[in-house]
Amino acid sequence: MEERKCLVAGGNLLQAHTWKGLLEACGIRVELRGEALLGGVGELPTDMQNVELWVSESELRAAQAQLAGLDVEGPRWQCLQCHEMNEASFELCWHCGAEPSQSHG
Ligand SMILES: [Zn+2]
Repeated sequence: MEERKCLVAGGNLLQAHTWKGLLEACGIRVELRGEALLGGVGELPTDMQNVELWVSESELRAAQAQLAGLDVEGPRWQCLQCHEMNEASFELCWHCGAEPSQSHG
């Protein structure tokens, strides 16, 4: 039985999903805990603050290194107008000034 370690706790759901996707793209298996509370609800609550990311102990260091390498406060977004990547803190595209699009399910 492999030991599991909590990598991140208390993150918001959107960020947790972003990190999970990035880590899994690097071959690191990530378990997202807290999400089960949502059940089959289609719309994700924005105030979900009890999300934890768990990884196996053997992959913990690699996972931490990946997160440290991201060097971002939150998930970045891509401008639909010019396809430039923008930091999460940018309210407008740094390149063309367009607003980020909000996906409506
Ligand atoms: Zn742009």
